[in-house]
Amino acid sequence: MNPSQTVRDQCVSKFHRSPNHNRPSTPPIVPAVVYEMDSPDAADRILSGDQAGYAYQRDGHPNASWLSEHCRQLHQADFAFVTSSGMSALALVVLNLLQPGHEVLLSSRLYGKTVSLVKELDRWGISHRTVDVSDLTATAKAMTDNTQLVIVETISNPTMRVADVQAIGELAHQQNAKLLVDNTFASPAIFRPLEFGADFVWESLTKIMNGHGDVLMGMLAGRGDGQLLSQTLSTWGMTASPFDCWLCERGLGTLYARVKMASESALAIARWLADQTQVKQVSYPGLVEHPDHKIAQEQFGGSGQAMFGHMLMFQVEGGREAAAKVILAMPEIPFCPSLGEMTTTQSHPTSTSHRGQNADDLAAIGIDGGTIRLSVGLESSQFVIEALSRGLKSLDF
Ligand SMILES: *Cc1c(COP(=O)(O)O)cnc(C)c1O
Repeated sequence: MNPSQTVRDQCVSKFHRSPNHNRPSTPPIVPAVVYEMDSPDAADRILSGDQAGYAYQRDGHPNASWLSEHCRQLHQADFAFVTSSGMSALALVVLNLLQPGHEVLLSSRLYGKTVSLVKELDRWGISHRTVDVSDLTATAKAMTDNTQLVIVETISNPTMRVADVQAIGELAHQQNAKLLVDNTFASPAIFRPLEFGADFVWESLTKIMNGHGDVLMGMLAGRGDGQLLSQTLSTWGMTASPFDCWLCERGLGTLYARVKMASESALAIARWLADQTQVKQVSYPGLVEHPDHKIAQEQFGGSGQAMFGHMLMFQVEGGREAAAKVILAMPEIPFCPSLGEMTTTQSHPTSTSHRGQNADDLAAIGIDGGTIRLSVGLESSQFVIEALSRGLKSLDF
């Protein structure tokens, strides 16, 4: 190119890049940290937001834009942002919305780390209350003039209770509070909380959204203007990496197919479990006897047949010792405390996700050492039922 270029110069030069002749059919990964500008004037326009363009990866990059636009469409939202973990998506909304004197109302059935994050806000003069959101009268009473944010899970972990999002949203709005719904267990394949009046929907993309167990990421979507959220995301350094966004975008393509297959299996497995003598209790919103079956049917029905998701919980008699026996007797179902992978996995809440919580509080919501949580994957339900059958038989001796 330039005759005076030495090998040293050629090594660092960017002039060898061939022009793009036409678009690749899958998006490329764009790992660049910084973007070239045509001129100081162009830099002004891009940095002030008058012209579309990227400047620095922490502020935004093509892979994050593609994935967040995909999430925005899936939730029919006005804006969506992807972040470096599920927890940072929660931090993003909390940092934006709350100030000293505000109060957060928490569902009594939430992911453990959600509760930990809100407890840390005490230091900034932001308090919280906890309420059983299945009791709408108690929920209305628990709200005060200071309540700014209400946090619920669509399908709670691990008890599989389903929140009446529309009713809770109406109560929150009467107090000028915002409703944030953790939709991780459901995903937009099953439920879109914004269509039922939620102000924000939050998901750990780490789980069923990516679906392959190889990405840690989060997503926040909502109604209105997301400009301030976008600034917070960049300033507090919550940006997700281009490679993770690319992997997750790849996972999203099969989201609906995976959720449909896993939901069908989970229903068959839950029905089978309900008939087993060793099983004390099964919780799956697709079962007619589930306390929230009706509301699940209404919310997850969409335009056709309702899907109830890939997560289910069951309890064996005999506490932790019995659960451990069952878990060890079915090695074909890996014991790992996460969810939403292609493979069916099992978890034991009292020794993993809920280990920090008081046993009496857990007993009050129906969890004890005998509780096992299943994340149903893409195997045939027959395969999983055979494994479970072996697991439960280990209790008969
Ligand atoms: C995993 C999980 C989170 C947190 O997401 P990370 O990606 O692990 O940070 C929040 N809520 C629920 C229901 C989860 O399962």
